[in-house]
Order: sequence, then structure tokens, then C-alpha cells
Amino acid sequence: MDHFLYRDGALYAEDVPIAEIAAAVGTPFYVYSTATLLRHYRLFDEALDGTDHLICYAMKAASNQAILKTLAQAGAGMDVVSGGEYLRARAAGVPGDRIVFSGVGKTADEIRMALMGGVRQFNVESEPEMEVISAVATELGVTAPITVRVNPDVDARTHAKIATGKSENKFGIPIARASQVYARAASLPGLEVVGIDVHIGSQLTVLEPFEQAYRKVAELTERLRSEGHDIRRLDLGGGLGIPYTRSNEAPPLPLEYGQLIKDTLGHLGCEIEIEPGRLIAGNAGLMVSRVIYVKSGEGRDFLILDGAMNDLIRPAMYEAHHDIVPVLEPAPGTEMQPYDIVGPVCETGDTFAKQRHMPPLAADDLIAFRSAGAYGAVMASEYNTRPLIPEVLVRGDQFAVIRARPTFDEIINRDTIPEWL
Ligand SMILES: *Cc1c(COP(=O)(O)O)cnc(C)c1O
Repeated sequence: MDHFLYRDGALYAEDVPIAEIAAAVGTPFYVYSTATLLRHYRLFDEALDGTDHLICYAMKAASNQAILKTLAQAGAGMDVVSGGEYLRARAAGVPGDRIVFSGVGKTADEIRMALMGGVRQFNVESEPEMEVISAVATELGVTAPITVRVNPDVDARTHAKIATGKSENKFGIPIARASQVYARAASLPGLEVVGIDVHIGSQLTVLEPFEQAYRKVAELTERLRSEGHDIRRLDLGGGLGIPYTRSNEAPPLPLEYGQLIKDTLGHLGCEIEIEPGRLIAGNAGLMVSRVIYVKSGEGRDFLILDGAMNDLIRPAMYEAHHDIVPVLEPAPGTEMQPYDIVGPVCETGDTFAKQRHMPPLAADDLIAFRSAGAYGAVMASEYNTRPLIPEVLVRGDQFAVIRARPTFDEIINRDTIPEWL
């Protein structure tokens, strides 16, 4: 459920007409709903009710500080995957002890930054990384809390580019080697082993892969405890999928996911962390774009938009489907017609949808891509020297630009011409 609904024939974000935002900030733009962000956060929070837990929003899904602050004020921690994300979370006011540091290639500088600024734990992905954390912590005279990310070798049954839990993926250490790696962790100075971490992929639409992974984590917890490690925290990653179409089969609800966690791991008495990104932000954001031209091709009509693959890359990168809706609600009985919906970038991959049934549209009409809140704005680029599009946050009847559109001068002046030219 989200808060982007038609009211009196026009699409709204909460209590603000989308057309009003478009008039104020220009198109294309991203718009997020505070109520939807908070609703999704609370669904997880309620799903883990009765269990000691922290929901660490995976901020790589949508990392604007206004979004981080909205969630942090509701009690969320953050899952960060780079030094930049760490600093951004701190800038948004998230305390270090609510920040979990994940990522497969943390550098010594990033580790130092987090140890000096405060961090809840590092989710360690390899033995060489463990050694660097140990060395940096020792040099700083502090102790680094760590978990080790184990790769449980389960098939997440999701798109290949976002599956992370098979043994052929680059993530984590093979679960079969966990005893050895934990023994090594216990022997290194400057480290305190606090738990186990697992994250098997993104956009999971069934619970079975989670169940397989969490059962393996439960077994591993008991084994590591018997080997003398004080496993008291389980970080279970993110990955719960969202419905990208309103027609398709619904992915499991956070409540069912929470129940699965309690059923598979509840008996261990561990503190639970989860790292949802997509489910919190995905359906809390739209990308709004304007039709520049309607072009009639051979046997098909193209809607050429002012938004493009550089603004929303998911269709080009993951063959992702986004529902696309007109901002003016079609009158009942309007006959739909098929369009190829494309951006202006010089790539055939700049195609959002083929033969998508829409009401008849004309130049200047506004349309909205639904479910664009996660892995949307954060994956945008300035390809074709197209400015990063603005982000807007709505709360009730208020809206604010939370990242402005850069000017062309700002973009162009980032280049430096060498003296010899
Ligand atoms: C990407 C990622 C997440 C979030 O995944 P979602 O599918 O957005 O919930 C969580 N944890 C880690 C380590 C990740 O890399």
C-alpha cells in the first residue's frame, strides 16, 4: 500500500497534487511519501514485536538525508556499504551505534572513519578484511565489534544481478568455513565477535530461500557457541521483495517474514537486525516525467519522455517492470492503446516499456513511474550531460525539494581543462 492515489481525477502524493509539484520543480523528478516510508518501517517493527531488534534501513536503496532522517526519527538504524554512506548517515543525525557497516570491499580509510566516528558493527566479508579491521582497531586502541557474513549457498530465486547468497557470488565466506574463520577472528587483537550476518539477495518474492538460509544460521549459531563464541546478534540482511505490478502475485508480507524469523531463530535468544531497503523505499517513491513527443513509427507509437535511463536505470539494467500511470486519471471507459515508452538518450536500451497499454497521451502530459523509490535516484547518472533530477519529499499537504536540480554550469564546471590545452 502507498499514498499515491487518484483524487478527483488527478494523481496525488499524500495531500499534494503531483501536477502542483511538477509546476514548482519542473520535470522529471522523484517524489517520496513520508507516510509510506514510515508505514513500511513500522510494518517491520511490528513484525518483530516481542523480539529485541533493530531495523537498519539499507540506505543504498534511497539515501537522501531527508529520507534517512525521517526513518531515524522513527527509530531506524542504517546499513551502510561505503564511507560516503557512513558520513551521509551521520550527517542526517544517525548515531554511530545504530550504523551497521556492510560491503565487500571496505578500505582501511573507511574502517578508520567508522571506528573513530562510532559504529554498531562491521559485517566482515573476508579474512583479509578481518585482518585490516584488526590492524586499524589496534592502531586506534579500540575494539571493533564484528559479525562475519556467511554465504549459505541458497538460491534466492531472484534476478541474477541481485542474487548474493550462492557460493559462486562474491559475498561473504562459505558457511562451511565459518568455524575456521571465527576461530581466526577470536585470535586477532582489536576484534570482538558479536554475531553472524547473512544477506542472500534482493527482490525475493517467496519466503523459502530466507527459511533455508535462516535455518543454516540457527545451526551455525549453536555450533559457534559450542566452540566458545558469544553469538548474541544475528543480522539477517534485507531482500524482501515488493509488488512492482498491481496485478501480479503478492510477495510475502513483513508480518509473515517476521514470523519466519521468530520460528527459525527465536529460540536462540539473539538480538535480531534486519536490513530492508527496497521494501521501505520502493513503493514510497514515484518518478514523474513529461511526454515530450508522441511519435508514430511503423506499426507502433512511441511516447518520448523527458525522463530517461540515466534517471531510472532499473528497466535497462534488470529488465525491471514499473507500472506507468497518467497523472490525469483516465475517464472510465477510456480506450487504452499500446505505446513504446522511451527516453531521449541515444541508446536502444533507453526503453522503459514496450507496447504498454495507456490511455491516449499527448505532448506535455505528465506520467508517473510507480515503485521507483528504491534504486532509482541513487543509481542515476549524468549520462548525456543530463542533470540529476530533483528529489521531493511530501508530508501531508507539505512538500519540499530535498535535492535540487543542478544547473548546467555546475555540471560543466566540474571538468578541469589541463594547462596544455
Ligand atoms: C542491498 C543490501 C540490502 C538491502 O536489500 P533490499 O533488497 O533493498 O532490501 C541489505 N543488506 C545488504 C548487505 C545489501 O547489500
